[in-house]
Amino acid sequence: MSKFYITTPIYYVNAAPHIGHAYTSVIADCIGRYHRLKGEEVFYLTGTDEHGEKIKKAAAAKGMEPQPFVDMVSENFRNLWKALDVEYDYFVRTTDKDHTAAVQEVIRILNEKGDIYKAVYKAFYCVPCETFWTDTQVKEAGGSCPMCKRGVEEVEEENYFFRLSRYEDWLKKYIADNPGFIRPKIRRNEVTGFLENNKLADLCISRPKARVSWGIDFPLNGDYVVYVWFDALLNYISAPGFLSDKEKFKRLWPADVHLMAKDIIRHHAIFWPVMLYALGLELPGTIMAHGWWKMGEEKMSKSLGNIVNPLEVIKSVGVDGLRYFLLREISLGGDGNYCAQALINRVNSDLANDIGNLLHRTLNMAEKYFDGAVEAAGALPEMFRESFGRLSDYAPAMDNLELSAALEPVLAFIGAMNKSIEEVKPWALAKAAKTSELKEFIYSLLEGLRVVFICLYPFIPSSAVRAYGQLGLEAKFDLKDVSWGAVKRYNITKGEPLFPRIDVNR
Ligand SMILES: [Zn+2]
Repeated sequence: MSKFYITTPIYYVNAAPHIGHAYTSVIADCIGRYHRLKGEEVFYLTGTDEHGEKIKKAAAAKGMEPQPFVDMVSENFRNLWKALDVEYDYFVRTTDKDHTAAVQEVIRILNEKGDIYKAVYKAFYCVPCETFWTDTQVKEAGGSCPMCKRGVEEVEEENYFFRLSRYEDWLKKYIADNPGFIRPKIRRNEVTGFLENNKLADLCISRPKARVSWGIDFPLNGDYVVYVWFDALLNYISAPGFLSDKEKFKRLWPADVHLMAKDIIRHHAIFWPVMLYALGLELPGTIMAHGWWKMGEEKMSKSLGNIVNPLEVIKSVGVDGLRYFLLREISLGGDGNYCAQALINRVNSDLANDIGNLLHRTLNMAEKYFDGAVEAAGALPEMFRESFGRLSDYAPAMDNLELSAALEPVLAFIGAMNKSIEEVKPWALAKAAKTSELKEFIYSLLEGLRVVFICLYPFIPSSAVRAYGQLGLEAKFDLKDVSWGAVKRYNITKGEPLFPRIDVNR
C-alpha cells in the first residue's frame, strides 16, 4: 500500500481562524480524500503553532495565561475543521511533549554536527512577524518590515545560529535540479530570484528569555528559547514520529506535499530544506503555495477588519457550497476575489442547477416510471461516449494538484447528461410505451451519476454521501469504480434536493 503524506502549515493561534485558514485546509482535505479514493494510506497533518511573544501578548490582552489561551484557540481550529468536513489524521500542537522533545533533539544533533554556533547579533526585529531583518532588507522596504510594512526595532544580543550559509550552493543546485520542488512556477522564480540576489545569512534560532519567554527551552542554554519558526517547521517531522515512533516515521517521511499560502513560501523553500538536509533526512516532494482570497484589491487581514468568518458563510450556503466555491473558483496558486454574490452564483449554477437538478430529475423519473428499481440495460450509450471518455482527464489533473481543472470533465459530463434529457425526452418514450429504451436511458443516467459523485467526493464529501444514499448505494468511494456498468441494479430512495437554490434577494 503506498502512502501519501500532506501537510498544512500549523496555524498561529494569536487570533480566530478565518477564510484564509479554511482555504488551505480544504485544499489539503480535497487532495487527501482523492488519495484515499486511490486506496493509499493518507497522513494529513495539521495543527497549531502556539509559541512566541505575540501569543503571550494576545493571551494577556484577554487576561489569560498563555497555556489556557492556546488551548482555547487551538480548540477553535479543531471545531472549524469539523464544521468544514476536514478529515485530518493528526493534529499537532507545538506545546505537545513529543514535539518539544523532537525540537530539542534536532538542535542537539545539529550542534554535534557543528551547524550551530553562538554570536552577537545585531539586526532589526519585527515584533508582529517575529522575524529579524538585515539592514539592507529594512532599507529596501523604506525603513519598515518587508513582510507587514510595520515599524521595526533595532536589537543587539547574543544568540545561537544555524549555519544556513554553509548550504547555500547545495540549496541552489537542488532547486535547479528539481523543477517540481517549488510550485507554482511564479513562487519557484521568486525563491530562485531571492537566492540569486541575497547571500544566505545564518539563521538566528534562539531568543533570550529576557525578551521572549513563551517558547521551547533551548537545549544548549537555559537562558534561551527556540525561535518560533525553527520550532514550528519541525512539526512536519515531529508529528509522524521522528523521535517518538521511528517505524511510523520511516513509513511516512518524506512528506509528499507541503501546502501553504504564498506569504510563507521562503520559510518552507529555504530554511526547511536546509534543516532537513543538515539532519540527513530526505526532502519533501513538493512545496506548493496557494494564493490569497482578497476583498477587492486588499488582502484579508485582521487589521483591515475585512475578515470573512467561514462559520457564517456555511450558514447561508452550506459546508459543501463553501468548499466547492473555494476549490472551483480559482486554480491552485492564483489569487481570488472573495465576493458573496459570486459564491451564491456558483452554488446556484453548478451545484443547484447542474448537479443537484440532474440527480433530482433522474431519481424522479426512476421512481415514476420504474417504482425506483432499474436494472442494467445496455452498454455505454453512444451519446455519452465522448463526455464519459473525458473523465480520464480527472485523475491526472488531481495527481498534479490541478483541482479546478479536474472538475472540468466532470462538469462537462454532467452538462451532457442534462442536455440528453432534453434530447431523448423520456416522457415521450413513456407515453409511447417504449419501455426498454426508457429503461436503458434512465439506467445510464443513474450510472453516470454514480460515477460523477465518486469524482466529486473529494470536493463535496457530505453531499456525495447523501447522493449515494438517494441512489441506494453504500457510500464507499473508490476511484476504481469510475467505470461503466459497475452497478447492475439500482433501487433508489428519492430524497430532498441536494442543493436547494439560494434566494439572492434574501
Ligand atoms: Zn512585520
